[in-house]
Amino acid sequence: MLMKVEFYKHDLGQQELDSLSTVLDSVFLTTGPRTRELEKKLALFLHCADFIAVSSCTQALVICLKALDIGPGDEVLTTPLTFIASSNSILEVGATPVFVDVEPRTGNLDAELIEAAITPRTKAILPVHLYGQMADMRSLQAIADQYNLQIIEDAAHCLEGQREGIRPGHLSAAACFSFYATKSITCGEGGGIAVNDQALAQKIKLLRTHGMNKEASERYQGRYQHWDMPYLGYKANLDDIRSALLLPQLDRIKANLATRQRLSRVYEQGLQQMAGIDFPETMPGVEHARHLFTIWVDPEKRDTYLAQLPELGVGVAVNYRPVHLLSYYCQTFGYKKDMFPRAEAIGSRTISLPLYPALTEQEIEYVLEVLNVMH
Ligand SMILES: *Cc1c(COP(=O)(O)O)cnc(C)c1O
Repeated sequence: MLMKVEFYKHDLGQQELDSLSTVLDSVFLTTGPRTRELEKKLALFLHCADFIAVSSCTQALVICLKALDIGPGDEVLTTPLTFIASSNSILEVGATPVFVDVEPRTGNLDAELIEAAITPRTKAILPVHLYGQMADMRSLQAIADQYNLQIIEDAAHCLEGQREGIRPGHLSAAACFSFYATKSITCGEGGGIAVNDQALAQKIKLLRTHGMNKEASERYQGRYQHWDMPYLGYKANLDDIRSALLLPQLDRIKANLATRQRLSRVYEQGLQQMAGIDFPETMPGVEHARHLFTIWVDPEKRDTYLAQLPELGVGVAVNYRPVHLLSYYCQTFGYKKDMFPRAEAIGSRTISLPLYPALTEQEIEYVLEVLNVMH
């Protein structure tokens, strides 16, 4: 029997509507009390000193690079197995992304390959916690300390993840998060930055609103106040409307994580018996945020699977074909096939399957059945 299993379904509903109406009933729509409440709660959740809400993870990455004075002439080491936002943010500040290959079993940036890529121009490392599994931050931090490099984490997949008690933001200058439509908590478009250093947090706060030293909620509290612009910044603040959509989701964050972890185990148990289909390994000490569930199939058959799965009602995606082989990167930097063979191997084999809290075990059984019939 044919079923329809969506690739992703959000779980926003009445609680979010109620929360939203408190903003519509107030006079303040942009960055104000609801955003500050969200920031306080996320800082507590992440065990970080500060959380600064912005309009997207892409903007978060750009602002962090800028706040750390990374720009033209500088190189930033990053993974090619990611969404283009990771390396595009480096280009946006005028610096050069330098790709380093990934670990074959996890798809995360391989700390062992970092040193060989360091040059006198290298200023930072930008790891991505792929699918929700944290990269080896302890090893990355050791190298960063040795070579005096900054670390900025792309933690778009990893709001809930940990590795040996370490969370995003703990071993780096800053960690960036996304509240984009398909992420584990969402307001359609949004993002944020976890940071511990006070001076850096202060600079990031200014950079998110043009570099102005007073935000709207401060400027219009009773008495008018003059403001200054010490830096050139961006327009990237998160408004109270979106923050209100995110706040109720924080109450479900742990339960939703537990559900995605349980559903991932159902997938993994089913797939263990299927010859020819593999999946990434979870390293010891990792609490996986389970943002995406991906399988690795025969590269010869991958695109056939991508065509057939939706015909049989199963939503799929590809995370990711490696960034260095996209036209702009090939043409601008001369990247070619076989330069990052592990990222390329995963990119040619990978398929992302449905994973979200409303997904049922019956639906997973159906996805597994379809995979079984197909191969
Ligand atoms: C979603 C995503 C981003 C971009 O997030 P936005 O909030 O859409 O800017 C960056 N990096 C990774 C790995 C992502 O998955």
